[in-house]
Amino acid sequence: MSRIVIGNWKLHGSMAMLEEYFSLLSAAGVSGGNVWLGLPVPYISAARGFAEKLGVCIGAQDASRYSEGAYTGEISADMLRDVGAQFVIVGHSERRRVFGDVDDIVCEKYHRAILAGLIPVLCVGETLAERDAGYEYEVVGRQLMAAINYFSSEEGGFNAPCIIAYEPVWAIGTGRTALLEDVEAMHSFILDRLPGAKVLYGGSVKPDSVRSLFQIDSVAGVLVGGASLSASSFASICGMA
Ligand code: PGA
Repeated sequence: MSRIVIGNWKLHGSMAMLEEYFSLLSAAGVSGGNVWLGLPVPYISAARGFAEKLGVCIGAQDASRYSEGAYTGEISADMLRDVGAQFVIVGHSERRRVFGDVDDIVCEKYHRAILAGLIPVLCVGETLAERDAGYEYEVVGRQLMAAINYFSSEEGGFNAPCIIAYEPVWAIGTGRTALLEDVEAMHSFILDRLPGAKVLYGGSVKPDSVRSLFQIDSVAGVLVGGASLSASSFASICGMA
């Protein structure tokens, strides 16, 4: 089974890094439509040529909730599509926490992405305080259904490709991965609500932790932050997918 591996460069990178990165991926034999890279927007156009040769998908890490207008600094989902993005991450916990992307905003971004023809990757996940208080399912259920219900009510049905990334906030960038049984339980919870969705796991995924994650049937792939900045680590994760 070929799982999806999405790299999320966050606020990192340069033109020089992009070129070297793709030549390393190519040398490592990475190819195929199951490998996706979420890049800073300025690099999307340039990455397209490299990515097409490998069959790798390129996307963005966020999109505006608006389609156009007087919104200085914003980048719309249509613009992302126009420069070659194929997917967009929405609702990442860093967007929720640092930039105030509450559920309603995430829903609008999700909606815009679908209308623009991008595949939205919806991130959901609880904080440590929420898990410790026993609210993890309530929080994830709310984040999930807010986005899905919004789209259903607007368009009268949910038919878009559905990719959910379960990323416990306390596992992101901390070196802590969730227990396999907790990942399995949360993925089942998500699949009960959205049968047919592809559910990815994210949070400190590294080459040495990914093998056991990939033993779980409901893990349809991984969203990789820090380890995706190293082409060799990313290639080795892709090699196990
Ligand atoms: P991490 O980031 O792999 O560095 O924990 C994951 C993410 O934020 O998507």
